[in-house]
Amino acid sequence: MQLTDLTWPKVQALNKDTPVVIPVAALEQHGHHLPLFTDSMLLGEIVRRVAGQFENRVLFAPLTWLGNSDHHLDFAGTLSAAPRVYIDLLNGLAENFIAHGFKRIVFLNGHGGNDVPGKQALFEVRQRHRQRADLLLLFATYWHLAPNAHTAVPGLVQSQMGHACEWETSMILRIAPHLVGDLSKLATIQSGNVFEPASRAWITKERTTPGHIGDPRAATAEKGEALFQAFTAGAATLLERALAWDGKSWNA
Ligand SMILES: [Zn+2]
Repeated sequence: MQLTDLTWPKVQALNKDTPVVIPVAALEQHGHHLPLFTDSMLLGEIVRRVAGQFENRVLFAPLTWLGNSDHHLDFAGTLSAAPRVYIDLLNGLAENFIAHGFKRIVFLNGHGGNDVPGKQALFEVRQRHRQRADLLLLFATYWHLAPNAHTAVPGLVQSQMGHACEWETSMILRIAPHLVGDLSKLATIQSGNVFEPASRAWITKERTTPGHIGDPRAATAEKGEALFQAFTAGAATLLERALAWDGKSWNA
């Protein structure tokens, strides 16, 4: 179900154990070869595919295209909700659904910069409602929902998600090839010394001059379709788990 298509009496009449998916993405630079709306387009496609599998069992909010992209602001066109604004925005969205009676809230994320503030927002919501045991508050980034994607998809040269990379370029080639620029002159940009397992704070321009991180020249539409299928399956598995939760227990 799409929230945008319902009337308020229909929302009021829904079983409030229906999981609510809030897709969150971004509008930010994606190198010289991909459009600014890449993250929102890719998550929108995954949501479109997943929603088709769940019909009336899951409620989908419209995609929130404004994300936390402060680290990309040195590149023209990037729009960003600053971190604390973004934390408040996601807090507010979750609280709106809780006020309407919903109990299972799933943020489905399509942008790396949303990960930390998104988890912080849900942390805050949970503390605010600490007397309740009937809330399921989840935040999931789509490429983490298919941890075997790099082996399941034939021919991938990257083992993990980069930025405007083989993976994202492949998926845009699948759904909007007319928006993909010339890949032939793009260099491979390694992820560099991110000091794993520590978490190193970074801004994008110190890691890449053109804006991408990874190897976009290895992209194909076929890889893009296989990645979409892997990520869609991963998101569907998460939603089945949210539906199967017993509504009250930590372990069930
Ligand atoms: Zn992206």
